[in-house]
Amino acid sequence: MSKGMPRILPRAQHPISRSLLTPNTLKVLYRLHHAGFLAYLVGGAVRDLLLGRRPKDFDVGTNARPQQVRQLFRNARIVGRRFRIARVQFPNEVVEVSTFRRNPVEEDPNEEEPADPLAPEAADEDAYGTPEEDAFRRDFTVNGLFYNIADFTVIDYVGGLQDLERRLIRSIGPAAERFVEDPVRMLRAVEYSVRLGFALEGQTAAAIREQYREIRRASPARLAYELTESLKSGHAAGIFHQLWEFGLLPEILPFFLSYEADQLRLLFRLLAAADLLASRRKLSEEALLALVLWPHLDRSLREAANGERPLGALEGELKQRVGELAQLLAFSHFRGHLIRYGFLYLARLYREPRSPRKAVRILRHEAFPVALDLLALQAVDEPEAARTLARWQEMQRRLEAGQPPLVVAQASGSRRRRSRGRRVQA
Ligand code: ATP
Ligand code: MG
Repeated sequence: MSKGMPRILPRAQHPISRSLLTPNTLKVLYRLHHAGFLAYLVGGAVRDLLLGRRPKDFDVGTNARPQQVRQLFRNARIVGRRFRIARVQFPNEVVEVSTFRRNPVEEDPNEEEPADPLAPEAADEDAYGTPEEDAFRRDFTVNGLFYNIADFTVIDYVGGLQDLERRLIRSIGPAAERFVEDPVRMLRAVEYSVRLGFALEGQTAAAIREQYREIRRASPARLAYELTESLKSGHAAGIFHQLWEFGLLPEILPFFLSYEADQLRLLFRLLAAADLLASRRKLSEEALLALVLWPHLDRSLREAANGERPLGALEGELKQRVGELAQLLAFSHFRGHLIRYGFLYLARLYREPRSPRKAVRILRHEAFPVALDLLALQAVDEPEAARTLARWQEMQRRLEAGQPPLVVAQASGSRRRRSRGRRVQA
């Protein structure tokens, strides 16, 4: 696609109506517009609305500078070090407003911290660009479309409309170069193609096949972000399968190479369970990320659950495995902690708590929601897990209603006395 005149679709020729935008997004677009700025809906929201899907979030592009955006919205906060973005905070929604820019390289989420609002912005001026430049710095043609609130047109500089019709994920500009520039785009290409059911355009797919090893250069935090998005998408099994086929997965998580066929089967069964649950239950990111380790831990978890293995031994193994994953994906200390204890408490949930008080301690542990999510994933295919899940959900309901959890026939004297003597107990 050469630069030049965009293709412009008038309102009558596309299905985006204002009623499909959230009221907050409309408010942001109109306030920018009435203040004399360009105000476009950009990125994934335009793509999804054109496809008749519900967007995950609404991003706005403008020629207003971040400081100008902030002056228009009292509820705006400026974030980002290299690229300042104004996040306009509403009670139940954040609308991100980005100034059009030409810089094609994405920000590392690790670097994200509130910019000093007093720092001079002159240094940033270089990074800003025209709407056309902003379209061309984006990753795929279907992600480079704009919806203009001034006249309700869709503006296409990059050939995205045609690729939406052809159902193709195509890199904007030469794929080989764009993937060297930012290898995370390879991951995103696979993610979108599976999520939308689009084919990868030939050059785009060929570039991934040639350069998949470059993914190693990507920052761990950005990899973690994209993997989490994939795990949450409802298409995790399909996406991971494609990442495996392209060789990307073992480059990101080398321990995948040690998985045997039956371990991979287990993993894909759990991913399918996550996809099934995605529409019903919001699974924690920690539980989803924990899935990739499950094949390593499955046996120990089962042994710990039925008492054949002391919980202390499981703890040691968890420390090592989760520690390795934490390094690969730059987890915060707390995230690593939640995953470790999520698994440990998963094993605990199978052991009947010895008293209501101990049950309450488990229910109140910060990793309990993660453990419960892991149990819910297991429960999709396993009746015993489903029964255990129902029990803990009932105990949780009772606790929330201010009643003590009912613990099954464990309070008999002999059992209790014996249990005091053991070291690792629920
Ligand atoms: P969704 O939010 O549904 O996952 P999205 O397209 O909105 O999809 P985001 O990750 O929110 O995806 O990114 C918003 C937009 O920013 C994208 O549509 C794309 O135009 C641009 N973008 C995101 N990541 C990159 C990247 N690595 N390189 C170039 N452009 C990118
Ligand atoms: Mg988005």
